[in-house]
Amino acid sequence: MTLPLLEIRGLRVSFSTPAGVFRAVNDLDLTLERGEIFGLVGETGCGKTVTALALMGLIPPTGRVAASRLSLDGVDLLSPRNLSKVRGRRMAMIFQDPAASLNPTFTIGQQLSHVIRHHLRLDSASTRRRAIELLNDVGLAEPKAILRAYPHQLSGGMQQRAMIALALASGADLLIADEPTTALDVTIQAQILRLLKSLRDRHGLTILLITHDLGVVAQTCDRVAVLYAGCVAETALTAQLFRAPKHPYTHGLLGALPRPGSRGKLLSAIEGSVPSGISATAGCPFAARCPSVMNRCKTEPLPLKSVADAHAVACHLY
Ligand code: SF4
Repeated sequence: MTLPLLEIRGLRVSFSTPAGVFRAVNDLDLTLERGEIFGLVGETGCGKTVTALALMGLIPPTGRVAASRLSLDGVDLLSPRNLSKVRGRRMAMIFQDPAASLNPTFTIGQQLSHVIRHHLRLDSASTRRRAIELLNDVGLAEPKAILRAYPHQLSGGMQQRAMIALALASGADLLIADEPTTALDVTIQAQILRLLKSLRDRHGLTILLITHDLGVVAQTCDRVAVLYAGCVAETALTAQLFRAPKHPYTHGLLGALPRPGSRGKLLSAIEGSVPSGISATAGCPFAARCPSVMNRCKTEPLPLKSVADAHAVACHLY
């Protein structure tokens, strides 16, 4: 049996705040198989980005990370020494706003050369060859001109492609993409999603795609986990989730999507708001907003239960 590339068991991330301890991620379990695109979806504040930052060891000092297991290809990421060896080398992350992630004072070539030399220790000629190869790989035409360009001379889509080239410069096998298309217009968004799929197909890259957009999940992901208040509410193959959603929160998210023929009609919305995360919830975190809530939902713990192959849900209805 092959080891999953990424294994997360019982991940908890909390922050000390003047109002109390804020629990951003609560007992999260996820596994990513090699070469898959896995979507992490949910509303703002549900713990998607905090999960990614915890994986990368980028939680600020006010935060506390604990897990029973956090490993990349068998390497224990809870050890700071291991983490510093694999971060940027075997796993890399790209963010929503490429303009804010690229250094405005260096050319794309200088930034790529820095990463390639740091991780791969190549001489100047090989570094330049590798940089051109990477820019070609992410679909940037005229890579020699791009090497000389500063970030502000590129469009948003080109900047995001350059960011992806930078993230992959070390030969990473896990790419964490945090809302990589949210700041881009719709046509460029589709191009970047196609690029991510093509990188997976050509290089066997594994991608953790964080998004609030179920349309992005439908277009791109093989499997998906729906997060709510720092917990996995439901996880399934993408096709399964859209065909037969189980969790009332997933139903709410899907019901809020605009569909052909819904022009002029009011979209449905999930009433209420996400719990603050400051006070501990004994039962289901969705209870205050759930149309199917029962008495036991407010008190009994909620393990993820399997409802079909590859499909599990945390809900007392199942
Ligand atoms: S456990 Fe209860 S409150 Fe939570 S989603 Fe299921 S039915 Fe709703």
